[in-house]
Amino acid sequence: MFRKPVIAGNWKMNTLPFEGVELARSLREKLGEVANVEVVIAPPFTHLHAINEEVKGTPIRLAAQNLNAKDSGAYTGEISAAMLLTMGCDFAIIGHSERRQYFGETDDSVNEKILAALANQLTPIVCVGETLEEREANKTLEVIATQLSGALKGLTAEGWKDIIVAYEPVWAIGTGKTASNEQAQEVHGFIRSELEKSLGKAIADKTRILYGGSVKPDSICGLMDQPDIDGALVGGASLKAEDFVKIVNFGKG
Ligand code: PEP
Repeated sequence: MFRKPVIAGNWKMNTLPFEGVELARSLREKLGEVANVEVVIAPPFTHLHAINEEVKGTPIRLAAQNLNAKDSGAYTGEISAAMLLTMGCDFAIIGHSERRQYFGETDDSVNEKILAALANQLTPIVCVGETLEEREANKTLEVIATQLSGALKGLTAEGWKDIIVAYEPVWAIGTGKTASNEQAQEVHGFIRSELEKSLGKAIADKTRILYGGSVKPDSICGLMDQPDIDGALVGGASLKAEDFVKIVNFGKG
């Protein structure tokens, strides 16, 4: 089954708005036409309007880094899925480990956010991943299964819309330690088999599963060679236009 690769850049809380616009412009110029890869960037909320103006009509698509599951109301400081859609976002990263670690996100809140994203035509990029402690205790697959079933609670094969899963081992994020191709493939294969168990083979076959954790231009090809790795969620290297473009162009030697 062909699954169009996705390369998504998570800028986190980096760049001032004018720097973000420059980075987006540089990406746009360096990338040119890209037909065979879906290219996504997730700048901070404050940059979305200006960056949308910069990338409109190009292959670069926008993601939010988070959202609030409520539609509107007295939730000071929060941003809804509908607001993000009108800012030009097509995707939303949900349940990133930094949000779980520092902002108390749980599988239940991740589930609510996924439902809100889907109700507002945003494609969720749902992050799951184990800590080093969990990996060393041989609990990786158990942790991933729990996160996945919690995140996808209530979703059925009939109502399924495009959802992207990102496997991001916490110990590999921002540390320079990438999971080996084999370690990543093992978990990606497991995620696909869990999707098959709960939602059926057709959904499992078409769902894109990204790897995230210190992906760099020199590690992307080995990862993309794995049968169940359909792209990457890139943090640090997405802030350097040259590196991100090399990652997007992984197949071009
Ligand atoms: C991330 O933040 O999703 C990520 C994978 O970061 P990095 O590439 O810097 O490890």
